[in-house]
Amino acid sequence: MSISSNLETIRNRINDACKKCGRDPAEVKLMAVSKFHPVEEIYEALDAGQKLFGENHVQEACLKFPGVFEKSSEAQVHMIGHLQTNKVAGAVKISSCIQSVDSLKLIREIEKQCAKIGKTITVLLELHTGEESKSGFGSEAELEEALEYIAQGNAAHLVPKGFMTMAPFTEDKDAVRKSFITLREVSERMKNKFPAFDLCELSMGMSGDFETAIEEGSTLVRVGTAIFGERKY
Ligand SMILES: *Cc1c(COP(=O)(O)O)cnc(C)c1O
Repeated sequence: MSISSNLETIRNRINDACKKCGRDPAEVKLMAVSKFHPVEEIYEALDAGQKLFGENHVQEACLKFPGVFEKSSEAQVHMIGHLQTNKVAGAVKISSCIQSVDSLKLIREIEKQCAKIGKTITVLLELHTGEESKSGFGSEAELEEALEYIAQGNAAHLVPKGFMTMAPFTEDKDAVRKSFITLREVSERMKNKFPAFDLCELSMGMSGDFETAIEEGSTLVRVGTAIFGERKY
């Protein structure tokens, strides 16, 4: 199947999932996760109208996306993989949002690098909700502490926009759903605690589980394999 027909299929599935639970499809953004796929495939997706992309590795994003931005001024890339502090400078230059913010140390470094280049960046705080994955804040308390740190004015170049999680890689559908429910509930509590922030984004759902994520309130699904095919690592 071609990338454009895969995109159409996914958009239809998103619309159907929204219809089933009474949501407006305009509330759910589709991110095409292009990690490990060549830039030519990103161009194909662009030609099919896709504007939002996700990458896990800074170096790879920095190689591919200057060409993408040249083709489309509306294209955007978000960083969605675990970020080491020595990669932050590159990440804040290439991306419009870092979804994988998972420590105070990382927040401090993003602030430092953004201040250097005078850029304000959107961030999502990643919460660990699954068993296997190690990424994300380990607890709601740590995540809250991070928001408090930003709320107190310590990271003026960061705009927290919401939350991200990865469900466990398992056939156990209940475990997957539970992970999405956890993120939604945490997000509701944080919205109440930090009314000054617009914490509207719930980034959850991948190729295998995005319909469940939409049922549980996802506003941004991150789909790789179902658009571009299997990754060749
Ligand atoms: C790779 C990746 C995705 C996409 O996964 P697929 O199963 O290929 O859709 C989504 N989110 C994150 C954080 C990823 O690392």
